[in-house]
Amino acid sequence: MKVCKFGGTSMANGKTIGLVADIINEDSERRFIVVSAPGKRDKKDVKVTDALYECYDEIAKNGTCDIAFEVINKRFCDIAGSLTPDFDICGVLKDVKAQMEKTKSKEFCASRGECLSALILAKKLGAEFVDTAGLIEFDTDGNLLLDRSIENLQARLADVDRAVLPGFYGTDTDGNVRTFSRGGSDVSGAIVARAMGAEVYENWTDVDGFLSADPRIVDKPCLIDYLSYRELRELSYMGAEVLHPESIFPVRSAGIPINIKNTFNPSFKGTMIVANNKLPKEHKIITGIAGRKGFTIINIEKDMMNSEIGFGRKVLEVLEDEGISFEHVPSGIDTLSVVIRDEYVSGKMQKVLAKLQETINGDNVEIHSGLSLIATVGHNMASRHGTAATLFEALASNHINVRMIDQGSSELNIIVGVDTFDYEKAINAIYHAFIKTPSDC
Ligand code: ASP
Repeated sequence: MKVCKFGGTSMANGKTIGLVADIINEDSERRFIVVSAPGKRDKKDVKVTDALYECYDEIAKNGTCDIAFEVINKRFCDIAGSLTPDFDICGVLKDVKAQMEKTKSKEFCASRGECLSALILAKKLGAEFVDTAGLIEFDTDGNLLLDRSIENLQARLADVDRAVLPGFYGTDTDGNVRTFSRGGSDVSGAIVARAMGAEVYENWTDVDGFLSADPRIVDKPCLIDYLSYRELRELSYMGAEVLHPESIFPVRSAGIPINIKNTFNPSFKGTMIVANNKLPKEHKIITGIAGRKGFTIINIEKDMMNSEIGFGRKVLEVLEDEGISFEHVPSGIDTLSVVIRDEYVSGKMQKVLAKLQETINGDNVEIHSGLSLIATVGHNMASRHGTAATLFEALASNHINVRMIDQGSSELNIIVGVDTFDYEKAINAIYHAFIKTPSDC
């Protein structure tokens, strides 16, 4: 049995949903289908979820969403009109708008795109619509309750032959609709795959698979055939956009592979994401490179820091008190640096610096912003020599100044911090140092 998740581009209009229905009907093992809200039909289009957030803004301001909801009306009337003409979508849309205005909840509003998308596809397929409200559960802080969600889904879907479920949301223990972070239908699909013990979790999108670098930066990067769960986590966390970074957690412990597939090229094998021991023997040294812009580094210097017990804790406590999460903490004997995403410190930097000075009494505390991080990820790095040498030689010969280095203890990746103006150049330099010709793919 396979669990399939179809993303926003696959669900964008009547025609693409027709392709989705063909893919599902082609294989009777595709029994549990999770869907996103309709995405963009072309570059200038609006995603339904974004339009729903606009509805919420209008409700918060005026109590109604008469203006913004027009976009939703038009999108779903077009889709249902061409796909399921007997389905009274107008009646459903009227109810949805009234519920949105009544609950005045941002997450409820945002969730309606997935709900409507699933309703329409279920009608088209003649399959059962199973709402994830009440099945996928969160605590009141919005943290997923995975075990309970699995139990709920197993009980509800036990006798169901084929079902369509909306992605992206569930309910908290008070019964309020809660959503994952953006792109979270990937996580919903993974939870359903785990609950139903799927043989594979097919994640259908609009690309042939995972690329070894961002194609907007590197010309025609290699397509990755196989990726381990941990490599995927590193690459997607660092900005590779194909899959939500949290989607591996539900499936990894059960060893369920994720297959990234293209709705618009369905016969192509795509990328397989598997456990380390299931990777093919000839797995490459470098699997992929990903990066993100927008980091700040706080450099702290203090003589004898090395012997001051509790120094690191005090630094991190200042951040914790300000609700700031950190990414990396590279350190020297008398120096310690903390790398933080800009968005977490924006508007708080001066306060954080003052508090740090006061708490740790450092010799020098300075910040350096405009930093980008680049992760070079490869499962085989740990067992080969020369990987770091190749990487740093590539950066040096391209005159790129490295501001920070971090190699995770797992030796799965090497992360470098470079000035943002060097970001694209650095990615190209690293990529071409390891992949010289298409035959190295
Ligand atoms: N529709 C939601 C978003 O645009 C969730 C998803 O598509 O996975 O983020």
